[in-house]
Amino acid sequence: MATDPICHMTVDEKKSKLTSEHEGVTFYFCSPSCKTIFDSDPHKFGHPKH
Ligand SMILES: [Zn+2]
Repeated sequence: MATDPICHMTVDEKKSKLTSEHEGVTFYFCSPSCKTIFDSDPHKFGHPKH
């Protein structure tokens, strides 16, 4: 399972079609609105471990 970087919901990466890639890492989203938020500023949301 993957974690939505916007709302921190658990997402099944085998089922989700809502994905974005940032610096070689694929992120999964629970909803189109979460993906839109991520895509608007991937640097802000795409580095949860930094
Ligand atoms: Zn979400």
